[in-house]
Amino acid sequence: MSDLKGIVLKSTPLNDHDALLLVLSDIGKVSIKAKGIQKMNSKNRSSCEIGCYSNFHTVDRLKQQYFVLKNAESIKRFKLIHSSLLKEGVFYCMLEIFSKMDFDFELALQYILQLDSCDNPYCIYGLLLSECFKKSGIDIVVDECVCCSSTNSLCGFSIRDGGFICKNCFDKTNHLLMSVNDLKSIRYAMHASITDYEILEKESFFDFELVELLYSFFQQYGEIFLQSHLFLRKIQPLV
Ligand SMILES: [Zn+2]
Repeated sequence: MSDLKGIVLKSTPLNDHDALLLVLSDIGKVSIKAKGIQKMNSKNRSSCEIGCYSNFHTVDRLKQQYFVLKNAESIKRFKLIHSSLLKEGVFYCMLEIFSKMDFDFELALQYILQLDSCDNPYCIYGLLLSECFKKSGIDIVVDECVCCSSTNSLCGFSIRDGGFICKNCFDKTNHLLMSVNDLKSIRYAMHASITDYEILEKESFFDFELVELLYSFFQQYGEIFLQSHLFLRKIQPLV
């Protein structure tokens, strides 16, 4: 028997009643087969839904492929996330990133707790996307012009060259003109970590347009597509 503490990232129905859960746990990503979880009266249902942070009591792995759930109990509910459509939208993007990339459980949990308590969900999402760049080994030049290394008059971004562009090198057919606040926010996020989050949120200007831009870079360089980001885009008129 194993007890695992973790967050449900994905739930794949196996038949009418059972599901296979992908859980980011304190021992890494694991699969847990949850029998009867799709039945309305399942006692484990409310602690095994996507995004739940729970204790999973399991019996030994069958053929080493997955754990089998005995029962689960909730550790913490993220009430503020679930009371805001915008936070929920960002939450699903986070869970999808954690399922597709390599994230440590403790770090992922810190991101979720910060999303729960933050004032600007776009900012925590911006920081997470910046973290994804670093994790993927994508080095975006944010301290100087990617073409001439000048640190003066930075005014845009070059997707092709992967970094900021100065006024002298700027070419409107190839580069993206950006505001000083947008450049500053990306620069801060690329240098920040989750422990600096409060300062980042105070000093940056993240909004949907800016995370949309970071996501498009991420999709282009990291070749990772997030279904949940499309949902976040769709709910924009409502939040
Ligand atoms: Zn330049």
